[in-house]
Amino acid sequence: MTSGLVLALVACAPKAPPPEAVAAPDPAETAAELHERLLVMDSHLDTPANFSKPDYDIMADNPTQLGEVQVDFPKMQRGGLDGGFWVTFLPQGPLDAASYEAAKTAALKRNDEIHAMVAAHPDTFELAYTAEDAARIAASGKRIVFQSIENSYPLGTDISMVETFYDRGVRMIGPVHFRDNQFADSATDLSANDYGGLSPLGQQLVREANRLGMVLDGSHAADATVDDMIELSTTPIILSHTGAKAIYDHPRNVDDALMQKVADNGGVIQINAYGGYLELLEPTPERQAALDALATEFEGETIATADAETRDRYIARMKEIDAAFPPPRSTFEKFMEHMNHALELVGPDHVGMGADWDGGGGVIGMEDVSFLPKVTERLLAEGYSAEDIQKIWSGNLLRVLQQAEANKETSPAQ
Ligand SMILES: [Zn+2]
Repeated sequence: MTSGLVLALVACAPKAPPPEAVAAPDPAETAAELHERLLVMDSHLDTPANFSKPDYDIMADNPTQLGEVQVDFPKMQRGGLDGGFWVTFLPQGPLDAASYEAAKTAALKRNDEIHAMVAAHPDTFELAYTAEDAARIAASGKRIVFQSIENSYPLGTDISMVETFYDRGVRMIGPVHFRDNQFADSATDLSANDYGGLSPLGQQLVREANRLGMVLDGSHAADATVDDMIELSTTPIILSHTGAKAIYDHPRNVDDALMQKVADNGGVIQINAYGGYLELLEPTPERQAALDALATEFEGETIATADAETRDRYIARMKEIDAAFPPPRSTFEKFMEHMNHALELVGPDHVGMGADWDGGGGVIGMEDVSFLPKVTERLLAEGYSAEDIQKIWSGNLLRVLQQAEANKETSPAQ
């Protein structure tokens, strides 16, 4: 643990870049009015997974489906969400050359879909490449589309793929997802740790991201991997959608020591609204019985290793179960407990929001992005200033992005 003085120095050293200074609120200004004039971003929008679905239209007010359909233009407008990092994600398959190749093709296609969405709505969305782009795009009345990669598995073992995605506009990259892969150990892979953190290839990935000026994302990574990323990266890292272990002891959450370490290093912890990571959610006996029957039906298969047909069948059966016996849900209050804990521990220079919209996030009381003004309202009530809240909504995220960009100038070629 570091002394408060060192923390203060680290926090102050790199002066926060955009957004521009936030005017102190008029005493009569409501929380909703303040929220509307802030630059509001989320660091983990899984929405691109919906782009190819025939019944999804980003310009329409789609029916909210917790964990699946929570972001579209009308909801962004109502919730004052200016944009964020839109994710290229692929689940993990076997660690072999043929599977890497298939995953690479699928990831490029998913990334194409992000570009196609923006191209189809040029008056509404715009791709962002630098921290400075964010305020400019928002001021023009459009929504900000930064890009990130969750799970570097589709990159295979070819480090030059990092630059391929950089050239497509990707500015944030996370090495690993639910299971250990060629780059790193995962927080949720219960098999024996292969690397004790980053693999040699994972170390190359960190150096390459630094060289290109990309932000490194330690969400889903094992604690040892996050330690390695902090140690090796020449710029602060982000946890793009993560919670506090002090509130709920789950491997996807980080304990106070690691949260403090990320912050001491200048990084940011963006708080998740994924119910299963916010608290222990016990299914009803009826739901548990249905899940047990499903497990028997698909004995020996996992969502990650099953072939496409089996996976689709599994997902369809899971949806039937969810409809008949809805899963237990977490709440807005529990989400705020995680956020408040992080804020109390590391302060408003190192906390933000990455709710995992359309990727499993969403809670009772904050079912989709149209509810975001509630967070501003609550933070004001907690005593945070407009300036603090601006940092939480995007200032911290843009600071780490700007630091990654600045580092690009000076980082030696690999
Ligand atoms: Zn995730």
